[in-house]
Amino acid sequence: MHVKMFTVGMLSTNCYIVSSKDTEEAILIDPGLDFSSEAKPILDYLAIGKIEAKFIVNTHGHDDHIKGNALFQQKVNIPICIHPLDAHFIETAEKDKFPANVALEDGAALSFGGETLKIMHTPGHTPGSICLVGEKIVFTGDTLFAGGIGRTDFPGGSMSDMAISLQKLASLPDYLLVYPGHGGTSMIGEEKRVNPFLTNQSKEWFF
Ligand SMILES: [Zn+2]
Ligand SMILES: [Zn+2]
Repeated sequence: MHVKMFTVGMLSTNCYIVSSKDTEEAILIDPGLDFSSEAKPILDYLAIGKIEAKFIVNTHGHDDHIKGNALFQQKVNIPICIHPLDAHFIETAEKDKFPANVALEDGAALSFGGETLKIMHTPGHTPGSICLVGEKIVFTGDTLFAGGIGRTDFPGGSMSDMAISLQKLASLPDYLLVYPGHGGTSMIGEEKRVNPFLTNQSKEWFF
């Protein structure tokens, strides 16, 4: 599995192309573009590598993660995948033109080119936030950042849901590489060591 990160939009969202080394099939995670010109390096990367994007996956429904969905739908016409609890964000943003096509429920497996990422439902930042878990990597959207977590004070956010979601993430193997929705990468083990929201002391902050 190969991961290419593009930082896009005014909120510096991490958009990822995750591709299979063997078959050049890929998924596109969180194309939160603010300008159509930001699509070019992503489309060029796909074209130069002869990589076929199979799905657009949104880790949650906030604008800074979904804004480029329609543009890529027009260019490559592939399904948009999101957790059902966040699908309404897309339908509102795109006025039903490009609705979510695939509902990503907890435990579902997303397969492309012989690779599989498992869906972990991690509500808290939004009701339908998900993480994508592979053998060595995890995409955490706006649930977990290097050294921090996503806000829970937006509509639908919940600090108590977030606490449970963070416990699920903390139960993953330490060696998993963390690719968050904003900022730099980390490891699950490193976050358990330094991230105040993943250490044991944090429990009293949540409840
Ligand atoms: Zn967000
Ligand atoms: Zn975000």
